Amino acid sequence: GDALAVSARVAPLGSRLVLLLVEDLTEARRIEAVRRDFVANVSHELKTPVGALSLLSEAVMDASDDPEAVERFAGRMQIEATRLTNLVQELIDLSRVQNDDPLEDAEPVRVDELVAEAIDRCRHAAGTKQITMAAGGTADLHVWGNRGQLAAALGNLVENAVNYSPARTRVGIAARRTSAPGGDSIEVAVTDQGIGISEKDKERVFERFYRVDPARSRATGGTGLGLAIVKHVAASHGGEVTVWSSEGQGSTFTLRLPEAGAARDRAQQHPDLD
Ligand code: ADP
Repeated sequence: GDALAVSARVAPLGSRLVLLLVEDLTEARRIEAVRRDFVANVSHELKTPVGALSLLSEAVMDASDDPEAVERFAGRMQIEATRLTNLVQELIDLSRVQNDDPLEDAEPVRVDELVAEAIDRCRHAAGTKQITMAAGGTADLHVWGNRGQLAAALGNLVENAVNYSPARTRVGIAARRTSAPGGDSIEVAVTDQGIGISEKDKERVFERFYRVDPARSRATGGTGLGLAIVKHVAASHGGEVTVWSSEGQGSTFTLRLPEAGAARDRAQQHPDLD
């Protein structure tokens, strides 16, 4: 009788445990599948430029008595080598933002400096397309975070705005403070007059290696990892990145980050989080 009563009492607990275990297993399987997908994607992305380089080097050897052809093939080898370098660099950046806790080296970072750096990084690409870049509202604003990671995130957004816009358009960067119950945030919005993103693609552009138009992305040296890096940096800083877009009209990517003052106050209230 007692044994029955005990097992009746234990049973619901037991089934919940089993349920938890099953949920854990499903989550573990999901993570494993995502990891396998990522390795498959990386391998595929590496294979393309490596294969091209191998074919081109053969072509150079076969054309050794035709200096013009050699020069042409060598030029294409250089493009493929640059593609490979970009890809490896972005993979390193992604793994770095995934593995380092950004708040270990957090400091107040001036928004005007981050914006100036991002504009500098894109000045050449924008210049060749006669795209004008303008920034506003950044004075006296500070975000709280890892300077290098924040610069990489904003740089990626501005780079995309330039890459996915036609010639003679405008890229605007606007910053402002927004108040919320949890503390003040800074929003930095990057607006372009480019090709835009469809409703269906909007949710997916933050996935690793997802590109709306792979050929166009490759042509601009894109790797499909930029927005995944931005999303990770935003989240690990307690912020977020959102996109508004109208196809054929342009896009606005908004990076919301904790304001330096507010984040510091929180850290002081909970010194163990410091
Ligand atoms: P990529 O290296 O291909 O630019 P990202 O992760 O930065 O990779 O972006 C993923 C995809 O999202 C791009 O290939 C492009 O299709 C789309 N995208 C990103 N930014 C913009 C933008 N400002 N305007 C239009 N499409 C964009």
